[in-house]
Amino acid sequence: MASFDRPSPMRATMNAHNANVNANANANANARAHGESAHASATTLRRATTTHKVVFFDCDDALYKNEWKTANDITKKIESFTVRELGLAPGRAYELYKKYGTCLKGLQEEGLLEESRLEEFLTYAHDVPHEEHIKRDEALRAMLLRMKTPKWVFTASARHHAQRCLELLGVDDLFEGIIDVRAVGWYTKHDARAYRAAMDIAGVSDPSDCIFLDDSVSNLKAARAVGWTNVLVGTHARDTGEEIVTEHADHIIATVHEFEALCRAHGYDHFHVEDAIEVENAVHA
Ligand SMILES: [Mg+2]
Repeated sequence: MASFDRPSPMRATMNAHNANVNANANANANARAHGESAHASATTLRRATTTHKVVFFDCDDALYKNEWKTANDITKKIESFTVRELGLAPGRAYELYKKYGTCLKGLQEEGLLEESRLEEFLTYAHDVPHEEHIKRDEALRAMLLRMKTPKWVFTASARHHAQRCLELLGVDDLFEGIIDVRAVGWYTKHDARAYRAAMDIAGVSDPSDCIFLDDSVSNLKAARAVGWTNVLVGTHARDTGEEIVTEHADHIIATVHEFEALCRAHGYDHFHVEDAIEVENAVHA
């Protein structure tokens, strides 16, 4: 595989299905601590080509990263709605988010939002200046174009918001579709039923056919419980800024752009090989 001739950009690679996961994780941590790439460990973990039939990408803070600027804008809008429109105490919205996975789910579970106001809530919450903090991403577009596996956006948010993000990134024409919270029966990505609904929509029945990229460790934990392979996108926590250490991720990459190298290192057959050789030649030219 051509990309093996150059240092891998992966920050960490963990395969929890491997009996040596702890040893490998430690090796990767040590490599990072010494400023080395995880290339050697990735080679050790390399296995026979695996073909997932579907790749699911989370949208916010996964397909793009902007230091949570858009997330913070949305958080402010949700706080504003819950305080002004629903009469909740300041900070209650965030508590619900932490407890239920999304504030919306908390509002629904605790009977704080009438069903007739769901659309109003979703429209208000996502009425943020997307264009200020989400820019066209040619590298992402090029990577997605090199993929041969069907790919879906799978978000616990609303379709119109994800669509706006994809348009700004310049990749809205490259997915099979957007699976949003409505499409999975309002279940969050903390709930196995959301993953099963997503599989139904994508037309697969075997969880091992699915690989999933998301920036939320709790989402990854739920996805793995269902049987999906998972990839954590992001190395540092939103709340604390500290490096994320977790046993719930099969792989960790800093940004979505590292997914291609990850796949090539682990024999995940999602990219056209000819393109890899072209990319390699371009790199060495
Ligand atoms: Mg996200």
